[in-house]
Amino acid sequence: MKSLSARALGISPSPTVAMDARYKELLARGLPVVSLGAGEPDLPMPEAGVAAAIQALREGKTRYAHMAGLPELRAALSRKFSEENGVAYAPEEILVTSGAKQAVFTALLALLNPGDEVIIPSPYWVTYPEAVRLAGGTPVIVETRMKEEFKLRPEDLRQAVTSRTKLLILNSPCNPTGAVYSRKEFEALAEVVVDKDLYLLSDEIYEHITFEAVRCVSPASLSPEMRARTATVNGFSKAFAMQGLRLGYIGAPAAWAKAMIAAQSHAAHHPSTISQYAALGCLPASPEILPSIRTHYQKAKDFALSRLQNIPGVAWNDPQGAFYVFLSVQSLLPAVVGGRAISGSLDLAEYLLEECNLATVPGVGFGREGYLRLSFANSLDDLKTAFDRLEQGLRALSPPA
Ligand code: PMP
Ligand code: GLU
Repeated sequence: MKSLSARALGISPSPTVAMDARYKELLARGLPVVSLGAGEPDLPMPEAGVAAAIQALREGKTRYAHMAGLPELRAALSRKFSEENGVAYAPEEILVTSGAKQAVFTALLALLNPGDEVIIPSPYWVTYPEAVRLAGGTPVIVETRMKEEFKLRPEDLRQAVTSRTKLLILNSPCNPTGAVYSRKEFEALAEVVVDKDLYLLSDEIYEHITFEAVRCVSPASLSPEMRARTATVNGFSKAFAMQGLRLGYIGAPAAWAKAMIAAQSHAAHHPSTISQYAALGCLPASPEILPSIRTHYQKAKDFALSRLQNIPGVAWNDPQGAFYVFLSVQSLLPAVVGGRAISGSLDLAEYLLEECNLATVPGVGFGREGYLRLSFANSLDDLKTAFDRLEQGLRALSPPA
């Protein structure tokens, strides 16, 4: 038989999604597992969104709708971009998608030709390199350093650019490191982006989940030059906890948006109409919803970090946003425990799941060996159990003989 697509065979399944599937399978089998694994809000979706979705269903709004999203939702998102982010994307420059994941994929599909290089700072969200490969591009990974809060340095960006570089992907707040770029840091990167004539894909899905006084900046707001070359991704899966309803969106300069809309018209037609009505219900409720969401994750972060203080041999950066800690376990590896050899983060995550009933995600999926990603989007009760298990599991490791 002839072989499957080289493109599809060249990628591996999402490790965050795979870990979540394993965790939920063990849970369904009645095992007492807890999760610091996939990044999924523990809060319920806002009532305003639920009510809007139910009303839309009752009113029979179940027919096909516009391929780029409901006109009233695109108009509301255009206002949101302008009021909250300082970026003027017209409604025609906005595409509503089935999750931010699909927005990222469609943006890449619409932009890349075979061989185009895409610069991705590591540690990165697991999906970026694989989505670039699926879209026919070539990921170019640029390492960042823990001592620099895992932020891309303009000089490292400049050095990575070749004649084939087309796009830079930035994610602030960052999954998995929690890094948030300041205006000044974005300005320094933007100088290289404009100078080298690159496009930018800015993934801002965690924009509302920031800690202490940290607030996010949208790089498309920096200058008309940046607005003309930046696509801004966002969605309803994180602050609005609509992750199962699969609703994201992307604003982009007109030509890029037009190409994305054409691609979506064939690939999906449009995202679920009911999810779009739910989003329309959530948006006006933002001012009431968002402060309590920040407080919830702030408490979870404070608890998680206080528990990490008690674990010998680990190191981390204070996350400024999102709901993850990217935990260095380098000084604990390689290790043995109960006759089991632990050589890297994959072995460690397996051991924690199988022996300690705790789901985490190995750092290697985010492009960095010697780390575990912990999601603290959880109730304080579950976090207590999870960190007890993490501490016990890590304390039980010994260096190999
Ligand atoms: N970007 C980042 C950085 C993420 O962590 C996620 C997590 N799901 C997404 C995009 C996609 O979110 P969704 O498809 O659920 O909207
Ligand atoms: N984004 C979340 C995570 O990183 C959910 C799973 C996924 O889409 O990768 O865990």
